[in-house]
Amino acid sequence: MSRTARAPLMTLDAALADLLGRVQALDGEETVPTFEADGRVLAEDLVSALQVPPHDNASMDGYALRVADVREASQVLPVSQRIAAGHMGEALQPGTCARIFTGAPLPEGADAVVMQEDTTEVGGDIHAVHIHAMPEPGQWVRRAGEDVRRGAVVLARGERLSPASLGLAASLGRAQVRVVRRPRVALFSTGDELVMPGEVAPEAMPPGAIYNANRFFLRTLLQRMGCEVSDLGIVPDRRDATLAALKTAADHHDLILTSGGVSVGEEDHVKPSVQQLGSLDLWQIGMKPGKPFAYGSVRRDGGAGSASGQSCHFIGLPGNPVSSFVTFLLLVRPFLLKLRGVPAQRILALPHAIQLPAHFVVSRADKRREFLRVRRNASGGLDLFPNQSSGVLTSMAWGDGLVDNPAGATIAHGDLVSFIPFAELLA
Ligand code: AMP
Ligand code: MG
Repeated sequence: MSRTARAPLMTLDAALADLLGRVQALDGEETVPTFEADGRVLAEDLVSALQVPPHDNASMDGYALRVADVREASQVLPVSQRIAAGHMGEALQPGTCARIFTGAPLPEGADAVVMQEDTTEVGGDIHAVHIHAMPEPGQWVRRAGEDVRRGAVVLARGERLSPASLGLAASLGRAQVRVVRRPRVALFSTGDELVMPGEVAPEAMPPGAIYNANRFFLRTLLQRMGCEVSDLGIVPDRRDATLAALKTAADHHDLILTSGGVSVGEEDHVKPSVQQLGSLDLWQIGMKPGKPFAYGSVRRDGGAGSASGQSCHFIGLPGNPVSSFVTFLLLVRPFLLKLRGVPAQRILALPHAIQLPAHFVVSRADKRREFLRVRRNASGGLDLFPNQSSGVLTSMAWGDGLVDNPAGATIAHGDLVSFIPFAELLA
């Protein structure tokens, strides 16, 4: 891993390709209630055992009839039956029509529905209607199977379930679905300066101490990504403590995610500890913020209850909160999608950017590809958070996305820039 001072850093694209090449889908599966499957990844093809809708049915309240029976405008047809949703009618007698309601099965013989608004009831004893508009065959009819054909693969293995797909699964009669198991992730923060909110009041903070902010967004992001999180808290900046934490975590998890301690100082124990217990395969990326990102693996002891496989994935995020957050979104997120069984060709590591005008200026180009915290403004442009330091977490909370600015590029007011909304990175 030695690198001369001038050696170029690995690009983000190369790091992403490398990272995704090192992770395979988890092999465990489980069956969960459809109600609880939001965000989970399907481990089966969902094949329809029926057609949806099951019958040709009316898409309007009105009258079902045979088009051939309407020979003139204002044709009068007797109403021979009444069919509400959930009830089957009789075969339609020629020369008559059926009162019908939205969702009700079309009676045999009918080939169109005339909407109620295009009819008037005939007064008197006989129950009949005037049909004012000449119907077209098939009008206001929803065809059996027009949503789903019997035997069709409606949702494929590897698909991430959304509220819409849960509804679709339910429309096939599925109360349960087979999904990939959740990844088990051990999370720990490093840094002797860290204290937990709630344990020490702001006015009692010892000199040099700061609150552990990373633990809060990292745990939440992991949970949003469908992970089972073991939060191991804060590990002190000592080699023995770091080694012990890594060793214990490796046995029972798919991924160890840490923040801090992966830079170049003597107090950065995470990187050398991973090298001692396994291997460090990726370190330092040409991006800003987020340069100290590290990927590797930690060997498992293979003791009782140990997870399958020889080693546990390791990802070390930078300690600076913005760097930690941005590298999670850009690198850990696609890594987790692959681990969770989403096929590689369906993982958009960097969501498609939207081109929007910059309502700000970046006059000094950076050597690294930079991800700027910005916010859409009311005039359709982007405002830049004034302090882009990697320690300023306010920029992440204020912003609603990142501008992906190529290495060496300046930005003039009005330039079109590539905007990636957080909404896409948090989905
Ligand atoms: P490190 O990567 O450990 O050198 O940390 C870089 C910077 O991030 C230092 O200023 C740390 O104090 C800060 N930092 C590290 N971990 C956290 C954390 N969990 N919450 C807030 N700031 C942190
Ligand atoms: Mg540190």
